[in-house]
Amino acid sequence: MAVFNETMNEFIRKGAFERVRWMQNLEKTMLPSHIKRIQQNDKTVMQEVVIPRWVTWDLLFEWANKKNTSSGRRCILCANLDENGIDFKERFICENCFLKLKHLE
Ligand SMILES: [Zn+2]
Repeated sequence: MAVFNETMNEFIRKGAFERVRWMQNLEKTMLPSHIKRIQQNDKTVMQEVVIPRWVTWDLLFEWANKKNTSSGRRCILCANLDENGIDFKERFICENCFLKLKHLE
């Protein structure tokens, strides 16, 4: 997920955690029908969903098409498997660890 991960890493670097959070919760924000239309490259979805201005079509399209059903990835910090988390410099950080890091800032 090049565009998606690069965008997220950039926001992490900049400390734009609200944006990171939004990207993490994208799944919960979108209706399955919207996701399906994004996968089909139907850009009219953009007029129906409430999304921040910084979100690009490329980002959504890549996200929708790369959504995988894996049961979790191993966090580089706590070594637990978790589905929710972020990719940071090509490594996975689970949501819990990410929130701890965020509080350290
Ligand atoms: Zn962790």
